[in-house]
Amino acid sequence: MPDLQQIIDRSRRIVCFTGAGVSTASGIPDFRGADGLYAGKWKGLTPEMILSQSFFFLHPEAFFEFYREKLLFPKAKPNAAHLAMERLERAGKLRGVVTQNVDGLHKRAGNKLVYEIHGSVWENYCMDCNAFYGLEKILNSPGIPRCDRCGGVVKPWVVLYGEAPDKYSCMGACREISNCDTLIVAGTSLSVEPAASFLDYFHGKHLVVVNAEPTPADDKAELVLRGNAAEVFESLEIRV
Ligand code: NAD
Ligand code: ZN
Repeated sequence: MPDLQQIIDRSRRIVCFTGAGVSTASGIPDFRGADGLYAGKWKGLTPEMILSQSFFFLHPEAFFEFYREKLLFPKAKPNAAHLAMERLERAGKLRGVVTQNVDGLHKRAGNKLVYEIHGSVWENYCMDCNAFYGLEKILNSPGIPRCDRCGGVVKPWVVLYGEAPDKYSCMGACREISNCDTLIVAGTSLSVEPAASFLDYFHGKHLVVVNAEPTPADDKAELVLRGNAAEVFESLEIRV
């Protein structure tokens, strides 16, 4: 059975499909991993309840309190996994990163083709006039962030439970997955839909899973690496 290095050396169109486990080495907790956010409750509420569209509209103040405390890590830096994916892109091997992460770390690492199918905490929009705001707006506004232009609520471009993901990001993601020869699924429990089903579009040669715990894709994968994504990617030799 080939190892990951051999698969990468043979591949010409790689896509990485990533989740929160790719960013834990940057100090951002995942949801369902051993030290994930779902292990605890916040004021008696589960993260799924708070990060839902209905909670956002009914209790925006509590939503933003949780969001600032638990989901924003403005000082987090890309780790070895993000940096290796950027190198793979520069080496002409990687066709795109499809990520469920909202931390923006793939773009900060320098990857050009990133499909952020659940949005990004770095982008925020006024719900009334659509004015754009960066992350500072959310970090520096007390309580509910308001638009400077019209006073509307500024909402993070982050897909909440009950909301549909961005159609164009999803279409691009599925197109890349259906055209690649190698799909590396890393740091995701594959439990969020429709993202998890995007893997059904893969018809290439090599499916690789890099995850700390078992995933529903393990059975179909040619190679399953049970471990730390940052360490696995750091060990690769990528010639640019
Ligand atoms: P998840 O929490 O459901 O699963 C993460 C998986 O990664 C787990 O199976 C865990 O065992 C594994 N893992 C943790 N650390 C790892 C490491 N260092 N190396 C390899 N594997 C590791 O996350 P998900 O599947 O991405 O889905 C949850 C949703 O949570 C997504 O929609 C995403 O938007 C959101 N989320 C994003 C962030 C982020 O942007 N960094 C963080 C938490 C949650
Ligand atoms: Zn406005």
